Amino acid sequence: MKTLGLTRGQLLILFFAAAVILLFFAYKKIDADTTAQIKTRYEEASAQMREQAEQLVTSKMQTTLALAISLSQNSDLKTLPQSRSDAVKKYSQYIETMRDETPFKNVWLEVTDEEGIYRSWRTQQKIVPDAAPKKGCNAPAVFLQGNEEDLLITAAVPLDGAPCSRMLYVHTHFNSISDALQRKKIDAVVLANEATSGTLRDPFSGMFAGPYYVANKHASKTLIERAASAAGTDSCSKPSYTAADGFLQTGVPLLDDTGAPLGCMMLFRSIETIAIEDLRSKSTSLKMLLFTAMSILIALLGWITFFFQKRQKAYYKEIIDSSSNVIIVTDGVEIIDVNRTFFSYLPTAIASIDAFKEKYNCICDFFVIEDGFLAPEMEHETWVEYAANRPEKRHIAKIKVEDDVYYFQVKAAKLKQSDDQRFSVVFTDITREYLDEIELERISLTDPLTKVWNRRYFDETMQKEFERSRRYGYLVSLLMIDIDHFKKINDRYGHAIGDKVLVTLCESLNIMLRKEDSFCRIGGEEFAVILPHTSRENALIIADRMRKRALEIAVDETIHFTISIGVCECGKSVEACYQSADKALYLAKYSGRNRVEQCMQQTVTL
Ligand code: GH3
Ligand code: MG
Ligand code: MG
Repeated sequence: MKTLGLTRGQLLILFFAAAVILLFFAYKKIDADTTAQIKTRYEEASAQMREQAEQLVTSKMQTTLALAISLSQNSDLKTLPQSRSDAVKKYSQYIETMRDETPFKNVWLEVTDEEGIYRSWRTQQKIVPDAAPKKGCNAPAVFLQGNEEDLLITAAVPLDGAPCSRMLYVHTHFNSISDALQRKKIDAVVLANEATSGTLRDPFSGMFAGPYYVANKHASKTLIERAASAAGTDSCSKPSYTAADGFLQTGVPLLDDTGAPLGCMMLFRSIETIAIEDLRSKSTSLKMLLFTAMSILIALLGWITFFFQKRQKAYYKEIIDSSSNVIIVTDGVEIIDVNRTFFSYLPTAIASIDAFKEKYNCICDFFVIEDGFLAPEMEHETWVEYAANRPEKRHIAKIKVEDDVYYFQVKAAKLKQSDDQRFSVVFTDITREYLDEIELERISLTDPLTKVWNRRYFDETMQKEFERSRRYGYLVSLLMIDIDHFKKINDRYGHAIGDKVLVTLCESLNIMLRKEDSFCRIGGEEFAVILPHTSRENALIIADRMRKRALEIAVDETIHFTISIGVCECGKSVEACYQSADKALYLAKYSGRNRVEQCMQQTVTL
């Protein structure tokens, strides 16, 4: 059956291929969708990380500024310490108080005027500040900066009326910011850029990642290395992220009040803490669903193929079974498969291959072994090999089942798709045709009047017997018989009586012969008898018996006649034998008729 010019099998394969392609693209789409969704989650998570860090930096800057403004109100700061050590002592007290009473744990104070710089953290050589206008000179300000010791948040507040003559600076670190971020499961590494790192004289944290100073003391070592490898890139200048080795990484740029870059706050978050598992499991479920669909499809295809194959097999079996021919599959000896017709030729008790095998080995057990028919073994081949190897020949098996004889035309072919030596054999029952053929053949070789063999049969059989006698080394003798004065019988009693004489003579003499002998009418009232396995002497005896038998015949009870016979044992050739026997007959006529003469001019009187 065809649809759109395609067979059902081709359509099925097309359908399956389309389904596989669709499933493949669906699979790819799930992967792409999941990747896109995960990317969105990473983008959201990294934006949130940056936002949280920026908020914390902003809030710390604001609180640092607030602290600086509130400290600037303190009248104590209006007077400068007597010495640098006094400054350390004095300012340290403020810091201690703040550490005890405020959330500010690490704060550094610094007061500058034209005279020098006074700091809370160590005795300092008097440093003359540069003449450049100071940040926060006109109004309190807060900014990020890198000084010779650290990367800091600095709040600057003018201390007296004369702007910029004396300034209070409050410095804070990034540690509290990174601690606060850690509570939100974000690890931070605050890196000063190369320029800022290069101005450090006495780095406060003492930590570096390559050329970059690490400004938060609590940063983890592994993350410092990671941060360092990314700091040289522009990952901090753009709101980008990377997700690798279990971490989502992003960065917040650290700029001074002019917008110039100072460094970068690298932020890390373990990917485990970002909810992407639901996406992954959704993707896995969808993939599983696809695989299930695929498996079902394959199973379905398998089932459909199996179903069609089974149906097709059943269909072919039906065709084979419905054949009136016997069809068998065999290896030459054992039967492997047969059609239903096979059993119709066997006794009813044998209705299955097993029942057949219990009693017989081979279908060739039924072969009748005769010349011209298939035998179980032929020319060192099994009957089936013999037939398969000679497809141009007509092979006939004569088969006898119980009392019935059948003639089958046999066609055998080697099965190509079989690993073993297997043949399909078709037995066509030609019993009727074969018998008709034999009958026609017999008629064509029989004399219609006397019913004995005719001249054609004589010629063919003489040739055949002569050759066989040569091959197998036996004698063949030939008798030539002629009715004496037959013309007179015709003349006296009429042609019909003449015919009756011919018929009666043939009947009488033919029954005297053996099965293998041939009695032939070769002319009007001339006959020849082929006697295989018969010597000259025996032929002479047979001939004389015939001559005597002819004497006993009385047609219409009154008509008698005699015959003359020439006898010859065949030697050189068929023609020579025939001519010699004819000569002997002539001699018998010549010698007075009602006689038997033998060739080689030897007269035998019996
Ligand atoms: P001879 O003893 O020498 O053999 O003499 P003959 O008369 O038998 O031989 P001849 O050859 O002279 O004659 C044979 C005759 O046989 C001639 C022919 O009419 C006759 N004849 C041939 N065929 C038939 C036949 O079928 N039926 C009948 N009734 N006569 C036949
Ligand atoms: Mg005659
Ligand atoms: Mg004659």
